[in-house]
Amino acid sequence: ADTAMYRAKRAGGGHAFFNVQHDRRTPAEMTLLTGLHHALERCEFRLHYQPIIHAVTGVVAGYEALIRWEGPDGLVSPAEFIPLAEVSGLIVPIGQWVLREAVRTAALIPLGHIAVNVSPLEFSQPHFVEYVARVLCEENLDPGRLLLEVTENSLLDPRRAQDVLQDLRTLGVRVALDDFGTGYSSLSALAGLPVEVLKIDRSFMAQVGQPSPEGMRAAELVRAVVALARAFGLDTVAEGVETQVQARALSELGCTFLQGYHFGRPGPLPQPAVHGAHAPVA
Ligand code: C2E
Ligand code: CA
Ligand code: CA
Ligand code: CA
Repeated sequence: ADTAMYRAKRAGGGHAFFNVQHDRRTPAEMTLLTGLHHALERCEFRLHYQPIIHAVTGVVAGYEALIRWEGPDGLVSPAEFIPLAEVSGLIVPIGQWVLREAVRTAALIPLGHIAVNVSPLEFSQPHFVEYVARVLCEENLDPGRLLLEVTENSLLDPRRAQDVLQDLRTLGVRVALDDFGTGYSSLSALAGLPVEVLKIDRSFMAQVGQPSPEGMRAAELVRAVVALARAFGLDTVAEGVETQVQARALSELGCTFLQGYHFGRPGPLPQPAVHGAHAPVA
């Protein structure tokens, strides 16, 4: 196979090397990959933050950090470039940048907890937990404020996943199972998993709150997931909440937290009113 050495600058300095298979990529993918490589070097990534609301009090409990890439030809969706970053290995330095940036921001701004997406390849890095610990220490963030969002694809090796999750728990970091309901997690696998939060996938939200058979079914599904989560002592986040009707229904169904366009789109954080200066005395 025609394999090229791919060099990527790591967020923390130094270099990481990845073997990139060139042979199976379309020209469009190659262009995207080259662009991603440059994006890392030129710091073209930014984080947007989406509020996560406490379902009962309506208070903002925290934010999810979502990566944005402002490339030479405009904004590229993470849905487009994260999968390619994952298979090429570039997700590792990208993920390191995301974690560093999100943790640094959370340490500066009292925004509640900060949720950071972790891809399966990042999760499988041998020193992943050590890296998380180092970033928290260097940026001086209380580990309890960090919530790592992993998907089932990070848990394909159950014994290793168990170890990593346990190490994260020991560190004081919480973990959410993202996109819950879209994969094939067995209930028995979930029972023993040291995670704290279930994020119920957006695809279940569309019908919730509708006075139709589909709406009733969606509600029953959410009710079942909430009951399951409670049985294991987990919190739930309903993601993709777009309407007041959905929000009310999900709150009544017992979801702990709500997230979606209804409460706020991902965007830059509101800057603190006073930054590095003294507050005017009232
Ligand atoms: P995700 O982790 O499931 O993130 C939620 C996605 O749903 C985000 O899309 C968010 O903008 C979108 N969303 C939030 N509320 C609503 C809503 O009410 N309606 C609709 N239709 N959509 C809503 P986004 O930002 O485009 O990210 C897509 C995916 O890319 C993420 O899905 C995640 O899997 C991945 N991703 C994003 N940022 C990162 C990152 O920093 N690292 C990694 N590894 N993956 C990331
Ligand atoms: Ca997520
Ligand atoms: Ca999700
Ligand atoms: Ca998703």
